[in-house]
Amino acid sequence: MLKDTFGRSFPYIRLSITDVCNYKCSYCLPQGYKKNPGDMRSFMSFEEISRLTKTLSELGVCKIRLTGGEPTVRKDFFDILKDMKQNSNIPKVTMTTNGYQLNKIANQLHEAGLDGINISIDSLNRETFKKLTGHDRLYEILEGIKILQTLNFKNIKVNAVLLKDINDTPEEFEKFGNFIKNNKIDFRFIELMQTGDNLDYFKKNHVASKIFKDYLEKNKWVTQTHGKDAGPSLNFIHPDYKGKFGLIAPYSKNFCQTCNRLRITSRGDLRLCLFGNTGISIRHLLQNDNQKDELVNLIIKQLHLKKESHYLELGDTGITPNLSSTGG
Ligand code: SAM
Repeated sequence: MLKDTFGRSFPYIRLSITDVCNYKCSYCLPQGYKKNPGDMRSFMSFEEISRLTKTLSELGVCKIRLTGGEPTVRKDFFDILKDMKQNSNIPKVTMTTNGYQLNKIANQLHEAGLDGINISIDSLNRETFKKLTGHDRLYEILEGIKILQTLNFKNIKVNAVLLKDINDTPEEFEKFGNFIKNNKIDFRFIELMQTGDNLDYFKKNHVASKIFKDYLEKNKWVTQTHGKDAGPSLNFIHPDYKGKFGLIAPYSKNFCQTCNRLRITSRGDLRLCLFGNTGISIRHLLQNDNQKDELVNLIIKQLHLKKESHYLELGDTGITPNLSSTGG
């Protein structure tokens, strides 16, 4: 099992397979995706990802979340997913997606054996959704969710970024509540994070997640404990609701104490923290199967450098210009 010097273990990897995203989310890529002229490296190939995944499984990793950018824009997305499910021994393979073609690919995702899906929906209002993302796709996403449910797909989560005057009122919380009342879906708010590129937006739109926590407590939602490979969400249940609410509050005290995940970028950099200042490349050790031991040693050695906490509350966003570039 991967462990750091603070006694935390890391059974969970967020693996970005592309930093390209087709959306223009106002807090992430408001001008749309642009290639970084300072980094002309290609994305990791199918073979490199396959080798990496097998090594991670030997290091005790039991959950990989495919992310990006938008992971489904990659033409070989299903090859990568199937290879992970069939050849890697990783018990849980999940993904984070904007769901732009979920209605078309829901069946394929299910058939490939995907173990869980996080879908980003910042608003259930069609116009607001369009304004925030640059895409009028809410219908396709909701239809895709229904198809997954018809297929009895179990682990569906919806994420929304909490945004001032957009989705942070009790009325908006209630709309999301109605959505999960008879739907076995986890709905989670993520507190807006400052990144290298979004300072002005952050200053204007950041609202502390306490506003949602207070709403939940006032309305008799009760906190739940979570498992060892769980994400960072604090979950709440209510007897009248089939779904759960959750809260991801990266600015909260002690958020990093329970950190159990590492990130690998689409170009093969190991990132010890979303907001860290370093990203060492492991790609040269993904070129043939004989390099496995060297790769294992490098990852273990790097892990000793993981800091106790990020310094996001001090405005230190590390080398993350936006979450699409690192893998959100
Ligand atoms: N394209 C996929 C998607 O839309 O879910 C995966 C990548 S996206 C970067 C992952 C998640 O990060 C999304 O839920 C997105 O809303 C969230 N995100 C992006 N920038 C953020 C920010 N500055 N603060 C909080 N969440 C952010």
